[in-house]
Amino acid sequence: MPQITPAQVLKETFGYEAFRPHQAQIIDAALAGRDVLAVMPTSAGKSICYQIPALMLGGLTVVVSPLISLMADQVGALRQSGVAASCLNSALGAQERADVLSAMAAGALSLVYVAPERLDDQRFLEVAASCGVSLLAVDEAHCISQWGNDFRPSYQRIIDFVHALPARPPVMALTATATRAVRDDIAGALDLASPLVVVASFDRPNLSFAVERPRGRAEKDRALVSFARERSELSGIVYCSSRHAVEEVCDALCDEGLLATRYHAGLSAAERERNQEDFLYDRRRIMVATNAFGMGIDKSNVSYVVHYNLSLSLENYYQEAGRAGRDGTRAECLLLYSPADVHTAEFLLDRSERDDLTAGQAAELHEHDERRLRQMVFYATTTDCLRAHILRYFGEEAPAYCDNCSNCLTSFDEVDATTDALKVVSCVARIAQRGQSAGAAAVVDVLRGSRAEKICRRGFDTLSTYGIMRDVPARRLRQLIDELVFRGVLTRSGGTYPTLGLSGAARGFLRREAPWDAPLMLKVTQGAPRAERS
Ligand code: ADP
Repeated sequence: MPQITPAQVLKETFGYEAFRPHQAQIIDAALAGRDVLAVMPTSAGKSICYQIPALMLGGLTVVVSPLISLMADQVGALRQSGVAASCLNSALGAQERADVLSAMAAGALSLVYVAPERLDDQRFLEVAASCGVSLLAVDEAHCISQWGNDFRPSYQRIIDFVHALPARPPVMALTATATRAVRDDIAGALDLASPLVVVASFDRPNLSFAVERPRGRAEKDRALVSFARERSELSGIVYCSSRHAVEEVCDALCDEGLLATRYHAGLSAAERERNQEDFLYDRRRIMVATNAFGMGIDKSNVSYVVHYNLSLSLENYYQEAGRAGRDGTRAECLLLYSPADVHTAEFLLDRSERDDLTAGQAAELHEHDERRLRQMVFYATTTDCLRAHILRYFGEEAPAYCDNCSNCLTSFDEVDATTDALKVVSCVARIAQRGQSAGAAAVVDVLRGSRAEKICRRGFDTLSTYGIMRDVPARRLRQLIDELVFRGVLTRSGGTYPTLGLSGAARGFLRREAPWDAPLMLKVTQGAPRAERS
Protein backbone atom coordinates (compact mmCIF):
# COMPACT_ATOMS: atom_id res chain seq x y z
CA MET A 1 0.00 0.00 0.00
CA PRO A 2 1.51 3.37 -0.94
CA GLN A 3 2.53 5.45 2.07
CA ILE A 4 0.51 8.50 2.84
CA THR A 5 2.55 11.73 2.57
CA PRO A 6 2.62 14.76 4.88
CA ALA A 7 1.00 16.82 2.13
CA GLN A 8 -1.90 14.38 2.02
CA VAL A 9 -2.37 14.56 5.79
CA LEU A 10 -2.27 18.36 5.54
CA LYS A 11 -5.07 18.28 3.01
CA GLU A 12 -7.17 15.42 4.30
CA THR A 13 -7.01 16.09 8.02
CA PHE A 14 -6.48 19.83 8.20
CA GLY A 15 -8.00 20.92 4.89
CA TYR A 16 -5.01 23.02 3.75
CA GLU A 17 -3.67 22.96 0.22
CA ALA A 18 -0.02 23.78 0.72
CA PHE A 19 2.58 23.99 3.43
CA ARG A 20 3.71 27.30 4.71
CA PRO A 21 7.43 28.08 4.74
CA HIS A 22 9.51 25.63 6.82
CA GLN A 23 6.64 23.33 7.77
CA ALA A 24 7.50 20.54 5.32
CA GLN A 25 11.16 20.61 6.25
CA ILE A 26 10.40 20.38 9.96
CA ILE A 27 7.91 17.56 9.49
CA ASP A 28 10.38 15.58 7.37
CA ALA A 29 13.05 15.94 10.05
CA ALA A 30 10.70 14.76 12.78
CA LEU A 31 9.62 11.79 10.67
CA ALA A 32 13.28 10.91 10.24
CA GLY A 33 13.71 10.91 14.02
CA ARG A 34 15.73 14.14 14.20
CA ASP A 35 15.48 16.73 16.95
CA VAL A 36 14.18 20.12 15.82
CA LEU A 37 14.41 23.65 17.14
CA ALA A 38 11.91 25.84 15.30
CA VAL A 39 11.81 29.57 15.85
CA MET A 40 8.87 31.00 13.97
CA PRO A 41 6.77 34.07 14.58
CA THR A 42 3.30 33.80 16.05
CA SER A 43 0.70 32.54 13.56
CA ALA A 44 3.36 31.00 11.31
CA GLY A 45 1.78 27.58 11.82
CA LYS A 46 4.00 25.81 14.33
CA SER A 47 1.40 23.37 15.65
CA ILE A 48 1.00 21.47 12.41
CA CYS A 49 4.73 20.81 12.50
CA TYR A 50 4.24 18.28 15.30
CA GLN A 51 0.61 17.37 14.69
CA ILE A 52 1.29 15.83 11.27
CA PRO A 53 4.24 13.73 12.50
CA ALA A 54 2.08 12.68 15.46
CA LEU A 55 -0.44 11.21 13.03
CA MET A 56 2.16 9.64 10.79
CA LEU A 57 4.55 8.18 13.37
CA GLY A 58 1.88 6.28 15.24
CA GLY A 59 2.26 5.80 18.99
CA LEU A 60 1.88 8.77 21.27
CA THR A 61 3.06 12.33 20.82
CA VAL A 62 3.39 14.27 24.07
CA VAL A 63 3.00 18.03 23.70
CA VAL A 64 4.18 20.19 26.58
CA SER A 65 2.27 23.44 26.67
CA PRO A 66 2.18 26.10 29.37
CA LEU A 67 -1.32 27.46 29.09
CA ILE A 68 -4.43 25.45 29.90
CA SER A 69 -6.61 27.62 27.67
CA LEU A 70 -4.35 27.17 24.65
CA MET A 71 -4.26 23.43 25.25
CA ALA A 72 -8.04 23.25 25.34
CA ASP A 73 -8.30 25.21 22.07
CA GLN A 74 -5.84 22.96 20.31
CA VAL A 75 -7.43 19.76 21.54
CA GLY A 76 -10.88 21.02 20.56
CA ALA A 77 -9.69 21.87 17.04
CA LEU A 78 -7.93 18.52 16.63
CA ARG A 79 -10.97 16.56 17.72
CA GLN A 80 -13.05 18.47 15.20
CA SER A 81 -10.63 17.28 12.55
CA GLY A 82 -11.12 13.73 13.79
CA VAL A 83 -7.80 13.41 15.62
CA ALA A 84 -7.68 11.50 18.93
CA ALA A 85 -6.25 14.12 21.26
CA SER A 86 -6.64 14.92 24.96
CA CYS A 87 -5.05 17.05 27.57
CA LEU A 88 -3.88 16.49 31.11
CA ASN A 89 -3.73 19.43 33.43
CA SER A 90 -4.75 20.69 36.83
CA ALA A 91 -8.14 21.82 35.50
CA LEU A 92 -9.29 18.20 35.18
CA GLY A 93 -10.90 16.20 37.96
CA ALA A 94 -9.36 12.95 39.23
CA GLN A 95 -11.74 10.78 37.18
CA GLU A 96 -11.08 12.70 33.96
CA ARG A 97 -7.36 12.38 34.51
CA ALA A 98 -7.70 8.66 35.08
CA ASP A 99 -9.71 8.36 31.86
CA VAL A 100 -7.04 10.14 29.85
CA LEU A 101 -4.34 7.91 31.33
CA SER A 102 -6.38 4.81 30.45
CA ALA A 103 -6.84 6.04 26.91
CA MET A 104 -3.08 6.60 26.67
CA ALA A 105 -2.35 3.13 28.04
CA ALA A 106 -4.79 1.58 25.56
CA GLY A 107 -2.97 3.30 22.68
CA ALA A 108 -6.14 5.21 21.82
CA LEU A 109 -4.52 8.67 21.71
CA SER A 110 -2.33 10.21 19.05
CA LEU A 111 -1.58 13.36 21.02
CA VAL A 112 -1.68 14.26 24.66
CA TYR A 113 -1.15 17.86 25.71
CA VAL A 114 0.32 18.24 29.17
CA ALA A 115 1.33 21.04 31.48
CA PRO A 116 5.02 20.74 32.34
CA GLU A 117 4.25 19.92 35.98
CA ARG A 118 2.46 16.79 34.79
CA LEU A 119 5.76 15.30 33.62
CA ASP A 120 6.85 14.93 37.26
CA ASP A 121 3.84 12.72 37.93
CA GLN A 122 4.96 9.14 38.48
CA ARG A 123 1.79 7.60 37.08
CA PHE A 124 2.01 9.68 33.92
CA LEU A 125 5.61 8.66 33.47
CA GLU A 126 4.77 4.97 33.89
CA VAL A 127 1.98 5.08 31.34
CA ALA A 128 4.05 7.15 28.89
CA ALA A 129 6.97 4.75 29.27
CA SER A 130 4.80 1.71 28.70
CA CYS A 131 2.92 2.96 25.66
CA GLY A 132 5.99 4.38 23.91
CA VAL A 133 6.39 8.06 23.17
CA SER A 134 7.21 8.60 19.52
CA LEU A 135 7.68 12.38 19.67
CA LEU A 136 7.97 14.99 22.39
CA ALA A 137 6.94 18.48 21.30
CA VAL A 138 7.76 21.40 23.57
CA ASP A 139 5.57 24.34 22.69
CA GLU A 140 6.49 27.85 23.88
CA ALA A 141 9.93 26.41 24.47
CA HIS A 142 11.34 29.80 25.50
CA CYS A 143 9.72 29.18 28.90
CA ILE A 144 12.73 26.97 29.58
CA SER A 145 15.05 29.95 29.44
CA GLN A 146 15.53 32.50 32.12
CA TRP A 147 16.18 34.96 29.32
CA GLY A 148 12.79 34.41 27.74
CA ASN A 149 9.62 36.31 28.32
CA ASP A 150 8.04 33.72 30.48
CA PHE A 151 10.50 31.67 32.46
CA ARG A 152 8.96 28.58 34.06
CA PRO A 153 11.20 26.50 36.28
CA SER A 154 9.08 23.40 35.60
CA TYR A 155 10.18 23.55 31.95
CA GLN A 156 13.72 22.84 33.07
CA ARG A 157 12.62 19.45 34.32
CA ILE A 158 11.33 18.28 30.93
CA ILE A 159 14.72 16.77 30.27
CA ASP A 160 14.35 14.52 33.35
CA PHE A 161 11.18 13.13 31.84
CA VAL A 162 12.96 12.47 28.54
CA HIS A 163 15.77 10.64 30.33
CA ALA A 164 13.32 8.56 32.33
CA LEU A 165 11.71 7.10 29.19
CA PRO A 166 13.02 3.71 28.08
CA ALA A 167 13.79 5.05 24.60
CA ARG A 168 14.58 8.69 23.95
CA PRO A 169 12.02 10.09 21.49
CA PRO A 170 12.91 12.86 19.04
CA VAL A 171 12.30 16.23 20.63
CA MET A 172 10.81 19.20 18.80
CA ALA A 173 11.11 22.58 20.50
CA LEU A 174 9.00 25.44 19.16
CA THR A 175 9.02 29.10 20.07
CA ALA A 176 8.37 32.57 18.72
CA THR A 177 11.13 34.11 20.82
CA ALA A 178 14.24 34.22 18.82
CA THR A 179 17.08 35.92 20.63
CA ARG A 180 20.24 33.89 20.40
CA ALA A 181 20.57 33.54 24.17
CA VAL A 182 17.11 32.00 24.39
CA ARG A 183 17.74 29.72 21.45
CA ASP A 184 21.02 28.43 22.91
CA ASP A 185 19.36 27.91 26.27
CA ILE A 186 16.58 25.82 24.74
CA ALA A 187 18.97 23.58 22.84
CA GLY A 188 21.08 23.12 25.98
CA ALA A 189 18.29 22.55 28.46
CA LEU A 190 16.55 19.99 26.24
CA ASP A 191 19.83 18.38 25.33
CA LEU A 192 18.96 18.51 21.64
CA ALA A 193 21.18 16.25 19.56
CA SER A 194 22.41 18.03 16.39
CA PRO A 195 18.90 19.37 15.83
CA LEU A 196 17.51 20.83 12.66
CA VAL A 197 17.41 24.50 13.56
CA VAL A 198 14.87 26.55 11.63
CA VAL A 199 14.70 30.26 12.20
CA ALA A 200 11.99 31.81 10.11
CA SER A 201 12.40 35.44 9.23
CA PHE A 202 10.63 37.77 11.59
CA ASP A 203 10.51 40.50 9.00
CA ARG A 204 7.09 41.80 8.10
CA PRO A 205 7.78 43.89 5.02
CA ASN A 206 4.20 45.22 4.89
CA LEU A 207 4.60 46.90 8.27
CA SER A 208 6.09 50.35 8.58
CA PHE A 209 7.60 51.47 11.87
CA ALA A 210 7.65 54.91 13.39
CA VAL A 211 8.58 56.48 16.69
CA GLU A 212 7.37 59.91 17.72
CA ARG A 213 8.42 61.73 20.84
CA PRO A 214 5.70 64.12 21.87
CA ARG A 215 6.74 66.48 24.67
CA GLY A 216 4.27 65.88 27.45
CA ARG A 217 0.89 64.29 27.81
CA ALA A 218 -1.17 66.89 25.97
CA GLU A 219 1.04 66.72 22.92
CA LYS A 220 0.87 62.94 23.00
CA ASP A 221 -2.92 63.03 23.01
CA ARG A 222 -2.93 65.47 20.10
CA ALA A 223 -0.54 63.26 18.17
CA LEU A 224 -2.75 60.22 18.74
CA VAL A 225 -5.99 61.99 17.88
CA SER A 226 -4.66 63.43 14.65
CA PHE A 227 -3.12 60.08 13.69
CA ALA A 228 -6.42 58.28 14.32
CA ARG A 229 -8.48 60.94 12.62
CA GLU A 230 -6.44 60.70 9.44
CA ARG A 231 -7.22 57.00 9.44
CA SER A 232 -10.82 57.09 10.64
CA GLU A 233 -11.90 54.63 7.94
CA LEU A 234 -9.38 52.06 9.11
CA SER A 235 -9.20 49.68 12.06
CA GLY A 236 -6.49 50.16 14.64
CA ILE A 237 -5.39 49.09 18.09
CA VAL A 238 -4.01 51.53 20.66
CA TYR A 239 -2.06 49.81 23.43
CA CYS A 240 -1.68 51.49 26.82
CA SER A 241 0.27 50.26 29.82
CA SER A 242 -2.50 50.60 32.43
CA ARG A 243 -6.25 50.25 32.75
CA HIS A 244 -6.41 53.85 33.81
CA ALA A 245 -4.63 55.00 30.67
CA VAL A 246 -6.99 52.85 28.56
CA GLU A 247 -9.98 54.63 30.06
CA GLU A 248 -8.53 58.09 29.54
CA VAL A 249 -7.30 57.51 26.02
CA CYS A 250 -10.55 55.86 24.97
CA ASP A 251 -12.51 58.81 26.36
CA ALA A 252 -10.20 61.28 24.63
CA LEU A 253 -10.73 59.57 21.27
CA CYS A 254 -14.50 59.32 21.73
CA ASP A 255 -14.64 63.00 22.72
CA GLU A 256 -13.14 63.76 19.34
CA GLY A 257 -15.92 61.82 17.66
CA LEU A 258 -13.77 58.80 16.86
CA LEU A 259 -15.32 55.35 17.14
CA ALA A 260 -13.24 53.81 19.92
CA THR A 261 -13.87 51.04 22.41
CA ARG A 262 -11.79 49.57 25.22
CA TYR A 263 -10.51 46.33 26.68
CA HIS A 264 -8.72 45.57 29.93
CA ALA A 265 -8.87 43.03 32.73
CA GLY A 266 -10.84 45.38 34.99
CA LEU A 267 -13.98 45.18 32.82
CA SER A 268 -16.63 42.53 33.26
CA ALA A 269 -16.35 39.48 31.03
CA ALA A 270 -19.58 40.52 29.29
CA GLU A 271 -18.30 43.99 28.48
CA ARG A 272 -14.95 42.68 27.29
CA GLU A 273 -16.70 40.31 24.93
CA ARG A 274 -19.07 42.99 23.66
CA ASN A 275 -16.27 45.47 23.04
CA GLN A 276 -14.15 42.86 21.36
CA GLU A 277 -17.00 41.97 19.01
CA ASP A 278 -17.67 45.63 18.25
CA PHE A 279 -14.09 45.86 17.14
CA LEU A 280 -13.95 42.55 15.28
CA TYR A 281 -17.08 43.39 13.29
CA ASP A 282 -15.93 46.96 12.61
CA ARG A 283 -18.74 48.61 14.55
CA ARG A 284 -15.94 50.34 16.45
CA ARG A 285 -12.82 51.21 14.51
CA ILE A 286 -10.37 51.66 17.34
CA MET A 287 -9.62 49.29 20.19
CA VAL A 288 -7.87 50.93 23.13
CA ALA A 289 -6.48 48.16 25.30
CA THR A 290 -3.90 46.86 27.70
CA ASN A 291 -1.79 43.92 26.63
CA ALA A 292 -4.62 41.69 27.89
CA PHE A 293 -6.10 42.21 24.43
CA GLY A 294 -4.82 40.32 21.45
CA MET A 295 -3.91 36.75 22.44
CA GLY A 296 -5.84 34.53 20.11
CA ILE A 297 -7.54 37.44 18.34
CA ASP A 298 -7.31 36.95 14.63
CA LYS A 299 -8.50 40.16 12.97
CA SER A 300 -6.81 40.39 9.64
CA ASN A 301 -7.60 43.99 8.69
CA VAL A 302 -5.96 45.89 11.52
CA SER A 303 -4.28 48.75 9.67
CA TYR A 304 -2.33 50.27 12.51
CA VAL A 305 -1.13 49.59 16.02
CA VAL A 306 -0.20 52.58 18.14
CA HIS A 307 1.67 52.14 21.41
CA TYR A 308 0.63 55.00 23.61
CA ASN A 309 3.12 53.79 26.23
CA LEU A 310 6.36 51.93 26.07
CA SER A 311 6.24 48.12 26.12
CA LEU A 312 8.37 46.30 28.67
CA SER A 313 10.45 44.61 26.00
CA LEU A 314 10.94 44.52 22.26
CA GLU A 315 9.48 41.00 22.27
CA ASN A 316 6.24 42.37 23.67
CA TYR A 317 6.33 45.38 21.39
CA TYR A 318 6.86 43.38 18.24
CA GLN A 319 4.24 40.82 19.14
CA GLU A 320 1.65 43.54 19.74
CA ALA A 321 2.67 45.70 16.79
CA GLY A 322 2.61 42.55 14.66
CA ARG A 323 -1.17 42.36 15.06
CA ALA A 324 -1.31 44.99 12.34
CA GLY A 325 -1.40 43.96 8.70
CA ARG A 326 -2.10 40.26 9.12
CA ASP A 327 -3.77 40.30 5.72
CA GLY A 328 -0.47 41.31 4.15
CA THR A 329 -1.56 44.81 3.17
CA ARG A 330 0.40 47.86 4.22
CA ALA A 331 -0.01 48.69 7.89
CA GLU A 332 1.57 51.06 10.36
CA CYS A 333 3.16 50.60 13.78
CA LEU A 334 3.68 53.77 15.76
CA LEU A 335 5.30 54.16 19.16
CA LEU A 336 4.57 57.37 21.04
CA TYR A 337 7.51 57.59 23.36
CA SER A 338 7.96 59.76 26.39
CA PRO A 339 10.59 59.35 29.10
CA ALA A 340 7.91 59.30 31.79
CA ASP A 341 6.89 55.92 30.37
CA VAL A 342 10.22 54.50 31.46
CA HIS A 343 9.34 55.19 35.08
CA THR A 344 5.95 53.55 34.65
CA ALA A 345 7.59 50.55 33.04
CA GLU A 346 10.14 50.27 35.85
CA PHE A 347 7.32 50.43 38.32
CA LEU A 348 5.49 47.63 36.51
CA LEU A 349 8.64 45.51 36.53
CA ASP A 350 9.13 46.08 40.26
CA ARG A 351 5.59 44.98 40.90
CA SER A 352 5.75 41.80 38.87
CA GLU A 353 6.85 39.46 41.63
CA ARG A 354 7.09 35.78 40.94
CA ASP A 355 6.53 33.51 43.89
CA ASP A 356 7.59 30.39 42.00
CA LEU A 357 11.20 31.59 41.85
CA THR A 358 14.03 31.51 44.38
CA ALA A 359 15.36 34.87 45.57
CA GLY A 360 18.46 34.42 43.42
CA GLN A 361 16.42 33.59 40.32
CA ALA A 362 14.10 36.52 40.97
CA ALA A 363 17.01 38.95 41.30
CA GLU A 364 18.61 37.67 38.13
CA LEU A 365 15.34 37.83 36.29
CA HIS A 366 14.75 41.35 37.46
CA GLU A 367 18.12 42.44 36.19
CA HIS A 368 17.34 40.78 32.89
CA ASP A 369 13.95 42.49 32.70
CA GLU A 370 15.69 45.81 33.28
CA ARG A 371 18.07 45.08 30.46
CA ARG A 372 15.21 44.25 28.12
CA LEU A 373 13.50 47.47 29.05
CA ARG A 374 16.70 49.35 28.19
CA GLN A 375 16.67 47.69 24.79
CA MET A 376 13.11 48.86 24.33
CA VAL A 377 14.09 52.41 25.27
CA PHE A 378 17.00 52.12 22.91
CA TYR A 379 14.59 51.26 20.09
CA ALA A 380 12.54 54.33 20.98
CA THR A 381 15.55 56.60 20.80
CA THR A 382 17.83 55.15 18.17
CA THR A 383 18.51 57.03 14.96
CA ASP A 384 19.19 53.76 13.12
CA CYS A 385 16.72 51.89 10.95
CA LEU A 386 13.93 50.68 13.24
CA ARG A 387 13.30 47.50 11.28
CA ALA A 388 16.96 46.60 11.33
CA HIS A 389 17.01 47.26 15.04
CA ILE A 390 14.15 44.85 15.68
CA LEU A 391 15.41 42.12 13.40
CA ARG A 392 18.92 42.26 14.82
CA TYR A 393 17.50 42.11 18.30
CA PHE A 394 15.88 38.83 17.28
CA GLY A 395 19.20 37.58 16.03
CA GLU A 396 18.54 38.12 12.35
CA GLU A 397 20.81 39.86 9.87
CA ALA A 398 19.22 42.95 8.39
CA PRO A 399 20.27 45.70 6.01
CA ALA A 400 20.87 49.04 7.67
CA TYR A 401 18.23 50.81 5.62
CA CYS A 402 14.63 49.67 5.02
CA ASP A 403 13.11 52.80 3.49
CA ASN A 404 9.92 52.10 5.44
CA CYS A 405 10.51 53.41 8.97
CA SER A 406 10.55 56.87 10.44
CA ASN A 407 14.32 56.88 10.80
CA CYS A 408 15.00 55.82 7.23
CA LEU A 409 12.47 58.33 5.95
CA THR A 410 13.68 61.34 7.95
CA SER A 411 16.63 63.34 6.78
CA PHE A 412 18.74 64.77 9.50
CA ASP A 413 22.37 65.33 10.29
CA GLU A 414 23.83 63.19 12.97
CA VAL A 415 26.55 64.24 15.34
CA ASP A 416 28.55 62.13 17.73
CA ALA A 417 27.75 63.40 21.21
CA THR A 418 29.30 60.50 23.14
CA THR A 419 32.08 62.44 24.85
CA ASP A 420 29.82 65.29 25.90
CA ALA A 421 27.18 62.86 27.14
CA LEU A 422 29.72 60.99 29.28
CA LYS A 423 30.76 64.29 30.87
CA VAL A 424 27.16 65.20 31.66
CA VAL A 425 26.38 61.80 33.20
CA SER A 426 29.64 61.87 35.21
CA CYS A 427 28.67 65.24 36.59
CA VAL A 428 25.27 63.94 37.77
CA ALA A 429 27.06 60.91 39.25
CA ARG A 430 29.57 63.09 41.17
CA ILE A 431 26.74 65.13 42.66
CA ALA A 432 24.90 61.96 43.65
CA GLN A 433 28.05 60.50 45.20
CA ARG A 434 28.08 63.42 47.59
CA GLY A 435 24.53 62.65 48.58
CA GLN A 436 23.31 65.83 46.90
CA SER A 437 20.97 66.38 43.97
CA ALA A 438 20.55 69.08 41.38
CA GLY A 439 18.20 70.06 38.59
CA ALA A 440 19.18 70.45 34.96
CA ALA A 441 19.92 74.17 35.30
CA ALA A 442 22.39 73.60 38.15
CA VAL A 443 24.08 70.73 36.31
CA VAL A 444 24.51 73.00 33.29
CA ASP A 445 25.97 75.68 35.57
CA VAL A 446 28.41 73.23 37.12
CA LEU A 447 29.57 71.94 33.76
CA ARG A 448 30.02 75.48 32.44
CA GLY A 449 31.90 76.58 35.59
CA SER A 450 29.37 79.18 36.73
CA ARG A 451 30.41 81.36 39.67
CA ALA A 452 26.77 81.75 40.73
CA GLU A 453 26.35 81.99 44.48
CA LYS A 454 24.05 78.95 44.72
CA ILE A 455 26.59 76.79 42.94
CA CYS A 456 29.48 77.82 45.20
CA ARG A 457 27.36 77.70 48.36
CA ARG A 458 26.61 74.04 47.72
CA GLY A 459 30.27 73.31 47.08
CA PHE A 460 29.62 72.32 43.48
CA ASP A 461 32.64 74.36 42.38
CA THR A 462 34.88 71.73 43.97
CA LEU A 463 33.48 68.88 41.88
CA SER A 464 35.92 67.31 39.43
CA THR A 465 33.42 67.95 36.65
CA TYR A 466 33.16 71.66 37.47
CA GLY A 467 33.84 73.75 34.41
CA ILE A 468 34.73 70.87 32.08
CA MET A 469 32.31 72.11 29.39
CA ARG A 470 32.85 75.84 29.62
CA ASP A 471 32.72 76.40 25.90
CA VAL A 472 29.52 74.45 25.18
CA PRO A 473 26.45 76.67 24.90
CA ALA A 474 23.96 76.20 27.78
CA ARG A 475 21.15 75.55 25.31
CA ARG A 476 23.11 72.73 23.77
CA LEU A 477 23.76 71.20 27.19
CA ARG A 478 20.11 71.35 28.13
CA GLN A 479 19.23 69.59 24.90
CA LEU A 480 21.78 66.91 25.65
CA ILE A 481 20.37 66.40 29.14
CA ASP A 482 16.87 66.06 27.66
CA GLU A 483 18.23 63.51 25.27
CA LEU A 484 19.83 61.49 28.07
CA VAL A 485 16.54 61.53 29.94
CA PHE A 486 14.78 60.45 26.75
CA ARG A 487 17.18 57.60 26.33
CA GLY A 488 16.67 56.44 29.89
CA VAL A 489 20.21 57.13 31.11
CA LEU A 490 19.26 60.00 33.41
CA THR A 491 16.05 60.35 35.36
CA ARG A 492 14.20 63.53 36.09
CA SER A 493 11.91 63.44 39.11
CA GLY A 494 10.21 65.77 41.54
CA GLY A 495 7.38 68.23 40.97
CA THR A 496 8.07 71.92 40.51
CA TYR A 497 11.85 71.73 40.69
CA PRO A 498 12.70 68.33 39.26
CA THR A 499 16.15 66.96 39.96
CA LEU A 500 18.29 64.76 37.78
CA GLY A 501 19.35 61.30 38.86
CA LEU A 502 21.02 58.22 37.44
CA SER A 503 18.80 55.49 36.06
CA GLY A 504 19.64 51.80 36.37
CA ALA A 505 21.23 52.10 32.94
CA ALA A 506 23.63 54.92 33.83
CA ARG A 507 26.39 52.70 35.09
CA GLY A 508 26.35 50.66 31.88
CA PHE A 509 26.37 53.89 29.95
CA LEU A 510 29.42 55.23 31.78
CA ARG A 511 31.22 51.94 31.20
CA ARG A 512 30.14 51.93 27.56
CA GLU A 513 28.61 48.48 27.89
CA ALA A 514 26.10 47.15 25.36
CA PRO A 515 23.80 48.64 24.18
CA TRP A 516 25.70 51.79 25.01
CA ASP A 517 28.94 50.72 23.36
CA ALA A 518 27.95 52.40 20.10
CA PRO A 519 28.50 56.15 19.70
CA LEU A 520 25.63 58.26 21.00
CA MET A 521 24.39 59.97 17.88
CA LEU A 522 22.13 62.95 18.08
CA LYS A 523 19.75 64.01 15.39
CA VAL A 524 20.29 67.59 14.45
CA THR A 525 18.06 69.28 12.00
CA GLN A 526 20.06 70.89 9.27
CA GLY A 527 21.66 74.19 10.17
CA ALA A 528 21.53 73.69 13.93
CA PRO A 529 24.76 74.01 15.87
CA ARG A 530 26.56 70.74 16.49
CA ALA A 531 26.51 69.02 19.85
CA GLU A 532 30.18 68.36 19.67
CA ARG A 533 32.49 70.59 17.76
CA SER A 534 34.67 68.67 15.37
P1 ADP B 1 1.63 29.36 15.78
O1 ADP B 1 1.60 28.21 16.76
O2 ADP B 1 2.87 29.40 14.96
O3 ADP B 1 1.32 30.70 16.41
P2 ADP B 1 -0.66 28.05 14.68
O4 ADP B 1 -0.07 26.69 14.65
O5 ADP B 1 -1.67 28.34 15.74
O6 ADP B 1 0.49 29.14 14.74
O7 ADP B 1 -1.25 28.37 13.25
C1 ADP B 1 -1.87 29.58 12.97
C2 ADP B 1 -3.04 29.35 12.02
O8 ADP B 1 -2.55 29.01 10.74
C3 ADP B 1 -3.95 28.23 12.46
O9 ADP B 1 -5.27 28.64 12.23
C4 ADP B 1 -3.55 27.08 11.54
O10 ADP B 1 -4.59 26.17 11.34
C5 ADP B 1 -3.20 27.83 10.27
N1 ADP B 1 -2.26 27.08 9.41
C6 ADP B 1 -1.19 26.38 9.80
N2 ADP B 1 -0.57 25.83 8.73
C7 ADP B 1 -1.27 26.20 7.64
C8 ADP B 1 -1.12 25.95 6.24
N3 ADP B 1 -0.13 25.21 5.75
N4 ADP B 1 -2.03 26.51 5.41
C9 ADP B 1 -3.03 27.28 5.90
N5 ADP B 1 -3.22 27.54 7.21
C10 ADP B 1 -2.36 27.01 8.07
